[in-house]
Amino acid sequence: MRIAVISDIHSNLPALTRTFEVLDQLGTDRIFCLGDIVGYGPSPNECIALVRERCAAVVKGNHDSGAIGEVPLEHFNTYGKNAIRWTRKHLTRKNAEYLRDLPLLVVQDDITLAHASPLHPEDWRYIFAWPDAHRCFDAFGTRICFIGHTHIPVIVGEDGTVNMFRNDRRYLINVGSVGQARDGNPRASFGLLDTTRNTYEVLRIEYDIEATAAAIFAAGLPDYLAHRLFLGI
Ligand code: ZN
Repeated sequence: MRIAVISDIHSNLPALTRTFEVLDQLGTDRIFCLGDIVGYGPSPNECIALVRERCAAVVKGNHDSGAIGEVPLEHFNTYGKNAIRWTRKHLTRKNAEYLRDLPLLVVQDDITLAHASPLHPEDWRYIFAWPDAHRCFDAFGTRICFIGHTHIPVIVGEDGTVNMFRNDRRYLINVGSVGQARDGNPRASFGLLDTTRNTYEVLRIEYDIEATAAAIFAAGLPDYLAHRLFLGI
């Protein structure tokens, strides 16, 4: 079975559309989404509609939670705050209800899905270092747990290996971000797991950043939210 895992779309419709086009070309059996469908970008309703249509399982991200008032504005940085306010104003009632009802954790096909961490997912902690990653392995019972949140793709093995994938290990895998890469590479990032061949790969694809930037300017969102996309920061 080929499973694609996407995360942190952040209302970036050109990035999400391009990602689904590539996944259709590659052929997948399931697509999972790790949340932060909205926030920062200008197309929250369109992105929710696509994710609802295409993804077999979806978990809630902190920006999804913030957009419906569950996480207070103080928890976001200046740009995040501004975008959350904008998103609250533009989200349809139906889509706000959809975000509200998303689970924090999903277990399916020997895979756990969480936005930030399988350990107390509601705390939205960032996992950047081994001690935090190590603690996560006791919090999930499946072979693999997929996460997003940092927008930086990485594969961490239970034995401390980094960016190696073997079939006899358990893994915590960050798939990176579709709509706002932050590792200096502006391309959209997502993961592809083949459970039959026991392979996992991170895919990086180009999308029309100019189109997203133009929509950010037109929406009246902060210019920086467009500029950062070209740099992948
Ligand atoms: Zn995010």
